[in-house]
Amino acid sequence: TTFEDLGLNPQLVEATKKMGYKKPTKIQRETIPLALAGRDIIALAQTGSGKTATFALPILNQLLDAPQPFFACVMSPTRELATQIAKHFEALGSIIGVRAAVIVGGISTMDQAMALSKRPHILVGTPGRIAWHLEHTKGFSLKNLKFLVMDEADKLLQDEYEEELNKILEIIPKERHTYLFSATMTSKVRKLERASLINPAKIQV
Ligand code: AMP
Repeated sequence: TTFEDLGLNPQLVEATKKMGYKKPTKIQRETIPLALAGRDIIALAQTGSGKTATFALPILNQLLDAPQPFFACVMSPTRELATQIAKHFEALGSIIGVRAAVIVGGISTMDQAMALSKRPHILVGTPGRIAWHLEHTKGFSLKNLKFLVMDEADKLLQDEYEEELNKILEIIPKERHTYLFSATMTSKVRKLERASLINPAKIQV
């Protein structure tokens, strides 16, 4: 199987080549066609499986057609992971100048409000800080959001993030695509699946 076979836009196929990817990983092969068909996704996947491109490519595939600000939001449990995800989106989406903002704790909220005012395509961050901006930053909303990704959901649900995540789920549009990735399947992840996904395709690699 090649990236072409998965049904991606030729510009994105080119982007994967530029990244040095010769062929899709197992999770990419199994998930990308379902995501492109418009399904919600729940995937059990470890870091190193190629999971970031698995959710980034279908989102970028849609974004290419009509670039819009705050098109997708990715929830990440840590600053390091959020930064990597944002870089991944910008690298794969460089053909159309995709911009991703990282919104995590421990960084000035003023600088972040400035970054949000530039209306990036993709928002990547921790639930606590994103919820904070939704409440306090004028002009920032996720009312046009098309995609929500919850990465490392088992970790997202570990500490104080659970409550913030639920707050965000209440605010954002119900009509959207949702991708949930987790390394382990816990009862909390199952509960989140029931609360946030509609008839998801289930992938386990
Ligand atoms: P991830 O599981 O998303 O953290 O990705 C792990 C590493 O694999 C990252 O450095 C990616 O750039 C890389 N990667 C993702 N997809 C592929 C692929 N199809 N072929 C080779 N490397 C890849």
